[in-house]
Amino acid sequence: MSKSPIRSVKGTQDILPDQSTRWQDLELTIQKIMDCYGYKEIRTPAFEHSEVFSQGVGEETDIVSKEMYSWTDQGGDNLTLKPELTAPVARSFIQHNLGVQNSINKLYYIDALFRRERPQKGRYRQFHQFGIEVFGSENPETDVEVIALAMHVFHKLGLKELTLQLNSIGSPECRNNYRNAIKNFLAPHFDQLSQTSQDRYNNNPLRILDTKSPDEKEILKDAPNISNYWTIDDKNHFDEVCNLLKHIKIDYQLSPSLVRGLDYYTRTTFEITSNELGAQNAICGGGRYDGLVEKLGGKPTPGIGFAAGIERLLLASSSDNKIRNIQIYIVGIGNDVRPTMINLAEELRSNDIRTSFDYLRRSIKAQMREANKLGAQYAIIIGEDELKDKSVIIKDLSTSNQEKITLDLVQKYMKSLPL
Ligand code: AMP
Repeated sequence: MSKSPIRSVKGTQDILPDQSTRWQDLELTIQKIMDCYGYKEIRTPAFEHSEVFSQGVGEETDIVSKEMYSWTDQGGDNLTLKPELTAPVARSFIQHNLGVQNSINKLYYIDALFRRERPQKGRYRQFHQFGIEVFGSENPETDVEVIALAMHVFHKLGLKELTLQLNSIGSPECRNNYRNAIKNFLAPHFDQLSQTSQDRYNNNPLRILDTKSPDEKEILKDAPNISNYWTIDDKNHFDEVCNLLKHIKIDYQLSPSLVRGLDYYTRTTFEITSNELGAQNAICGGGRYDGLVEKLGGKPTPGIGFAAGIERLLLASSSDNKIRNIQIYIVGIGNDVRPTMINLAEELRSNDIRTSFDYLRRSIKAQMREANKLGAQYAIIIGEDELKDKSVIIKDLSTSNQEKITLDLVQKYMKSLPL
């Protein structure tokens, strides 16, 4: 009995050739925009010491408490496949003293992440994000540039119906006071809360504001608003962010309950959603994390960034998969022509001409069919006669016109064609 073939792991996806040029085009768009804004790419390893996440993200977050792929390796090290990028980038920033070399570091990444979530459309266990992290400035113009950059990329990708939700969760001082205020407010309703929210009440009460439950939303309608707990500096910072956004005509909605799940956020937080997506409509989340670098053992350094999910961007954008067909297909008749075929193919490729040939030693008819199927513009035919007199036949596959030229003129001839 034949075994059933092994399948990919639940929540992971293959990116097949009929989709991969969409990915490449998207990555190219991101890279070009990053260059314009002066951001440099950073690439960090696929796995890290688990402490990077337990310290940098927070034990009580969903990501760390429930979703990480962690293991102890043969040497006894506790390791984790990265479930997010900000903590690894901050770890790298500290380790390589990037803050000493430059007072501002503007970094970006395009990378794969791993979270053991319940898979559904737009939510996977391996997925990809592009994101940016800026270290070194606490000033509002940085926050605004970060948001503007995200919007710039999404507009360039043709996304419409975007909503920017904006909030400030203030300084640590403000958050402490607000945390207590939320606990006091919810104390009389404790028994009505779900088990998850009751757990959060003790560990991370601000997360209760993220609830999706209509009953809890009803209770929270009268909850205290974080803006009443901002310090003067928090308020001034947020006002300036809002004013600058208005100045560059980026619309936003104030969203006082946008606190985000991660521990290291301070002040500005934002989320961008797309109406073109279903339940998983968040395409980008970001914010300021002025406490993170210090928390991971570095010198106090303000930071801000965002991460956007690439699968969701591709779901929301209507880009085509632009297959880049080969341009030349070399048709060889007889085994003796193989060396000449391979050599010619190599020369054409050196001149950046997309070239392929037949690997199956098929009949001339089958090779011509293959040339058409692959979308080649020209076939170069080499048979025994051509081999003898060092020539080739070049056939235009759209008109079927053909002509014979000497082998040493092929490259020059190709350059004259509208490829
Ligand atoms: P987060 O790192 O949780 O703030 O997520 C940032 C963005 O990554 C979200 O707005 C989504 O676009 C995307 N994202 C988060 N989790 C997943 C997932 N499991 N599968 C696909 N995309 C995700």
